Amino acid sequence: MLLREVAYARPRTLEAAVRLLGEHEDARALAGGQSLTNAMKQRVGSPAVLVDLAELAELRRIDRAADGSLELGAMATYAQIVLSPEVSSTHPILAEVAHQIADVQVRNRGTIGGNVCWNDPTNHFPPLLAALEARMTITGPNGEREVGYDEFFVGVFMTAAGPGELLTKITVPAPGACGSAFASVPIGKDGTCIVNAAACVDGGAPRIAIGCVAGVPERATGMEQALAGGDLSPERVREAARGLGQALDPPSDVHASAEYRRHLAEVLAVRATLQAAGRAA
Ligand SMILES: Cc1cc2nc3c(=O)[nH]c(=O)nc-3n(C[C@H](O)[C@H](O)[C@H](O)COP(=O)(O)OP(=O)(O)OC[C@H]3O[C@@H](n4cnc5c(N)ncnc54)[C@H](O)[C@@H]3O)c2cc1C
Repeated sequence: MLLREVAYARPRTLEAAVRLLGEHEDARALAGGQSLTNAMKQRVGSPAVLVDLAELAELRRIDRAADGSLELGAMATYAQIVLSPEVSSTHPILAEVAHQIADVQVRNRGTIGGNVCWNDPTNHFPPLLAALEARMTITGPNGEREVGYDEFFVGVFMTAAGPGELLTKITVPAPGACGSAFASVPIGKDGTCIVNAAACVDGGAPRIAIGCVAGVPERATGMEQALAGGDLSPERVREAARGLGQALDPPSDVHASAEYRRHLAEVLAVRATLQAAGRAA
């Protein structure tokens, strides 16, 4: 289906982009267009103005901050993340997961900022960034603010970036001796995830997040607390995961029942945690 007619702007500065978004009531940012243009073709969304962020080179940067954290510009593409030496030197899990998304075309255009701003619960990055405890920088007419991932993800297709605001940067804390892993069961080899799980192990309690089971990534806090003592043997991790699924309220759909998603949540939380522990060791 063809797109409806839509006004299009391609600002050259961040200030101009924010101004344009504020000036038009129904303006939307256009990043890689891999979700937004599909939604427009299907008439699920019909913004009046598209503000294309393609010229904003500052949003494509991947930098190291003075405290060792990794700063990912919102317009960094999956392909850029896969190939970035900065990413692979300290946070290779980001490249590993970016490489799992769809196909080459999607990875060449899709951006990490678009991925989290769309906040489709089946997307790969929300649970991973939850386990990594990322922080998001949002820029709007009143300047810049930073929010934690837990404040950023609000609900299905909803985030803390409001009308007239842009996500500009995602900051991932320095990993220390952290091992991280991501496990998923997709629909077909490169398909949408039915359930996914991310884990990060750094000596304290592991951080474990489950995706596709709610509107926002769910931290498996009970399992995290049960493993706070540091014993990450397979038996202990499996025991800690028991009951995790029952604490969740996932949807049933054509791909999986809620009960099967609860089961997968436990299986994938165990898989990701054991792999992360192995990588941290
Ligand atoms: C065939 C196919 C398969 C896919 N499979 C997967 C998959 O398995 N896993 C997965 O995670 N994703 C998958 N995707 C989705 C893909 O990852 C998209 O790239 C992503 O959801 C959106 O990123 P984008 O850069 O394309 O953003 P766009 O589509 O351009 O924008 C998405 C939304 O975010 C908003 N937005 C974008 N950037 C900003 C910003 N900086 N500030 C504020 N708002 C912003 C836009 O206004 C829009 O509402 C798939 C897509 C396709 C086409």
